[in-house]
Amino acid sequence: MPHVITQSCCSDGSCVYACPVNCIHPSPDEPGFATAEMLYIDPVACVDCGACVSACPVGAIAPDTRLTDKQLPFVALNAAFYPERPAGVKLPPTSKLAPVLPAPQVRRGRADLTVAVVGSGPAGMYAADELLTQKGVRVNVFDRLPTPFGLVRAGVAPDHQNTKGVTRVFEQISARSNFNFYLNVEAGRHISHAELLDHHHAVLYTVGAPNDRRLDIAGMELPGTGTATETVAWINGHPDFAGLTVDLRHERVVVIGNGNVALDVARILTADPDDLARTDISDTALGALCDSAVREVVIAARRRPADSAFTLPELIGLTSTAEVVLSTDDHDLVVQDLASATDPVTVGKLEILAKLPVAADIAARPRIRLAYRLTPHRVLGTRRVSGIEFRRTGTDEAVQLDAGMVLTSIGYRGAPIAGLPFDEAAAVVPNRDGRVIDPVTGAAVTGAYVAGWIKRGPTGFIGTNKSCAMQTVSRLVDDFNAGLLTDPTARPGMLDKLIRSRRPDVIDAAGWRAIDTAETARGAAEGRPRVKFTEVSDMVAAAAAAADPPVVRRLLAGLLR
Ligand code: NAP
Repeated sequence: MPHVITQSCCSDGSCVYACPVNCIHPSPDEPGFATAEMLYIDPVACVDCGACVSACPVGAIAPDTRLTDKQLPFVALNAAFYPERPAGVKLPPTSKLAPVLPAPQVRRGRADLTVAVVGSGPAGMYAADELLTQKGVRVNVFDRLPTPFGLVRAGVAPDHQNTKGVTRVFEQISARSNFNFYLNVEAGRHISHAELLDHHHAVLYTVGAPNDRRLDIAGMELPGTGTATETVAWINGHPDFAGLTVDLRHERVVVIGNGNVALDVARILTADPDDLARTDISDTALGALCDSAVREVVIAARRRPADSAFTLPELIGLTSTAEVVLSTDDHDLVVQDLASATDPVTVGKLEILAKLPVAADIAARPRIRLAYRLTPHRVLGTRRVSGIEFRRTGTDEAVQLDAGMVLTSIGYRGAPIAGLPFDEAAAVVPNRDGRVIDPVTGAAVTGAYVAGWIKRGPTGFIGTNKSCAMQTVSRLVDDFNAGLLTDPTARPGMLDKLIRSRRPDVIDAAGWRAIDTAETARGAAEGRPRVKFTEVSDMVAAAAAAADPPVVRRLLAGLLR
């Protein structure tokens, strides 16, 4: 009864460290880790102890006898990662990591190491975790929103609740005694980089990639165009996008790009609203989806099926929950690609694509069409979007599709951070293993570090940020131990006063707990994990409950009504 890793694998490697027989690969110290689409359990070596199940933060692992029908394809997928061999024959060890978690050793004797982490998404929380593995370290985590956890709250699709379960780990980290939240505080606006350094030895930016890559074609200014990432934020009730106009009174939506974000958007736009009503989707988005006229979402890729950007686990998940079709021509492309593909993951994707039904017309039931070799040329329409014209990739052939909405899903883009250098081409802060460097001299910028998407670009999964953050923290601790970081000049306690003078609505851990409690209470009343606040003012009011219980009880009573 070996255990099996399934779709929601976040690749944080917790299972690797927990496994007593080193049967989960690729591990964070193996070459394939950075590019792997998920981690895999060797069914021959697994001793069925279940340690990985408890360690996994997203509930992705189960014994092979307890899988749902939708999860069964993952049995073969896990096994296919390992060479075939007789039962009981183990592979030679390739990882030196498991089961020891190497922590950076902070040298005591000077002032406590004090670090500001800017951004409370996965990279920030994993960095805080790594720093707080030792005594004598203090971490203050800043976020411009009143709620923490970045894209886990605002980017992970609401029908992926298992993945959102990683917040349980983040809650444990934020409950540590030397951890402080300064939420609803924007670094660069309410407090500068230089001021952060007055109060900390180092500032570690984990601000992600907040913008979209823009598609430079005619018609992108028309109403009815948008981006998949904004749409996901709207679906998730992000306060900046709660008021987004998403007009679903049309039969067809075209999504440009076929990464996992495109799949997320297409899946939600075609899902049964009754299923979504059991999630933490924003009420505004749920209302719009209930009234939606959308019958087809076309996911248009510029390259061939073998080059699909989505991952195999997500394709397995998509095809088990949604109706997905191909055109006859695209089915032919799949068959051609399958004849020459050798990489097992690509072959796995193509085998699934080859089994998809071929369909031409829009059906009564909402469905998803995967389309290939379509390079976007111009958006059609006068007052609003009426369609899109592509060029058949590599040719001059024009291909037009009617559509009421055109969404780009061509990747995220990092934004400059005030006071730090920025690499415009790569849209990251120039760094060496997380140490920010001056691109002209190549010298390290004292006290400045990065982790996550602003360090390495917008790729990978939630858990990829764990090893990424560990690398940065290890360099930061080396610099502290070598005496390269300047002790804070401000006295302890002054930071709190400064922040409160600039941002009276700052929200701390207790404030976030009050928001969380209020949201989950609203959700419980409707049989949902939570009903989110989508206005900052409502979040601030709910957080006030922690500071002034009688006031909060009154406010909550009002909000829950
Ligand atoms: P992505 O995986 O980088 O995909 C970008 C897509 O945009 C590709 O299909 C790319 O095509 C296309 N593209 C880029 N420029 C284009 C252009 N000018 N014209 C037409 N198409 C263009 O990006 P993403 O979907 O935003 O995902 C970002 C990261 O988050 C990925 O690592 C993803 O796996 C991860 N993520 C994971 C999950 C999950 O695990 N459930 C969910 C969401 C996101 P080419 O390949 O031809 O360049």
